[in-house]
Amino acid sequence: MTPDFDAVILGAGPYGLAAAAHLRQIEGLEVRIFGEPMEFWKCHMPEGMLLRSPWPASHISDPAAALTMDAFRGASSRQIPVPVPLDQFVDYGLWFQSQVVPEVDRRRVAEIRQSAEGFDLLLNDGSSCRSRRVVIAAGIGSFAVRPPQFEGLPPDSVSHASDHRNVRSLSGKRVVVLGAGQSALESAALMHEAGAEVEVIVRSPSVHWLGWKARIQKLGPVAKLLYSPYDIGPAGVSRIVALPNMVRYFPRNIQDGFRKRALRPAGARWLVDRCKAIPIKTNTHVTSASLKAGKVLLKLNDGTSREANKVLLGTGYHVDISRYPFLPPALSRLVDQVNGFPKLKAGFESSVPGLYFLGAPSAWTFGPLMYFVCGTDFAARNLARHFAVLPSPKIAVGVA
Ligand SMILES: Cc1cc2nc3c(=O)[nH]c(=O)nc-3n(C[C@H](O)[C@H](O)[C@H](O)COP(=O)(O)OP(=O)(O)OC[C@H]3O[C@@H](n4cnc5c(N)ncnc54)[C@H](O)[C@@H]3O)c2cc1C
Repeated sequence: MTPDFDAVILGAGPYGLAAAAHLRQIEGLEVRIFGEPMEFWKCHMPEGMLLRSPWPASHISDPAAALTMDAFRGASSRQIPVPVPLDQFVDYGLWFQSQVVPEVDRRRVAEIRQSAEGFDLLLNDGSSCRSRRVVIAAGIGSFAVRPPQFEGLPPDSVSHASDHRNVRSLSGKRVVVLGAGQSALESAALMHEAGAEVEVIVRSPSVHWLGWKARIQKLGPVAKLLYSPYDIGPAGVSRIVALPNMVRYFPRNIQDGFRKRALRPAGARWLVDRCKAIPIKTNTHVTSASLKAGKVLLKLNDGTSREANKVLLGTGYHVDISRYPFLPPALSRLVDQVNGFPKLKAGFESSVPGLYFLGAPSAWTFGPLMYFVCGTDFAARNLARHFAVLPSPKIAVGVA
């Protein structure tokens, strides 16, 4: 049977929207995008959060670079402070979507199955459609890390940072935050400012605060040589990872080193003062967690314990595409992978013909930029270039 679409994009976050903006330029290509626009940003980041990425790294890509944050600021006649507040960025994403794909299909994809002509997609309302190609831009929401010590404890008592949007509701409560990344530290600051009694527990010997760039910037042009405007990664590495096609040609161990260094848990400089009054216990981890009289009892590796009304897991995300609920094991097993990341070709295609991955899952191949909004430009342009040179947009995809 003839497929309904040449390409389906799964996910309407920054990567899915950028892909839609670029693919719709290809004449004759029938593209459909599924998902609630900017859902992860609207529902899974803490209210009151500020973007860590600087202004030049916060534009979602479109072919003419006409839908930037600057264009949004002009079109909406509003002042947007820096760092950019979360709600303003969400409004920007929704504006971008309204310009590019007003007809986005808000249904979720429940399952993808391979078929003779490409893929069958089952949707959450029970209906289905067929597409020759599928571009997965489903983000990191499925990859939240929940340490096993907390298994079985109720979400009212223990939740991952991505499950607790309204951090201000914890006013007056005792909260333990685990983790030393931006999400953990900023949630801690927001809860502290809302009147919660917060303690942060960190496995590493210290918290890493970003800040070298600000100091090096005093050196003028030297700073420009060492840091790209995206500001991802330490001096030098920042310049290399800003060029994903170059990253691919470094030996594997060096590429992995770039990824680790650019993504190591760290807090933005502007959080330092906001975290000053919050106790941060380093070199410490939780050995067990249980419920005691409605509170969470945490036992720590130094022999001490803590009681808290709430534990917030700022424990990050580990890419593992087999955890995407819409990707059945039979299909995910066909994708060539390394530690949960798909190995991709130049056009972001996986080893399964017609199946593409954008965003964080593409970082094993294209480096750490792919975790961030600034990676949308490279990803969407390369994806569109790949689609544009296919012999015909209607070409059938072989079954692996
Ligand atoms: C707390 C926090 C702060 C961050 N701050 C920054 C920052 O300041 N700057 C920055 O560049 N990056 C930041 N990031 C990283 C950010 O997640 C990525 O930059 C960005 O979201 C990547 O876009 P994406 O489209 O890949 O993923 P997402 O924005 O997560 O979009 C994926 C979309 O896919 C949808 N989806 C998933 N499954 C389905 C399905 N089955 N059917 C339909 N739709 C589906 C989801 O609803 C979601 O909307 C932050 C991350 C976190 C957790």
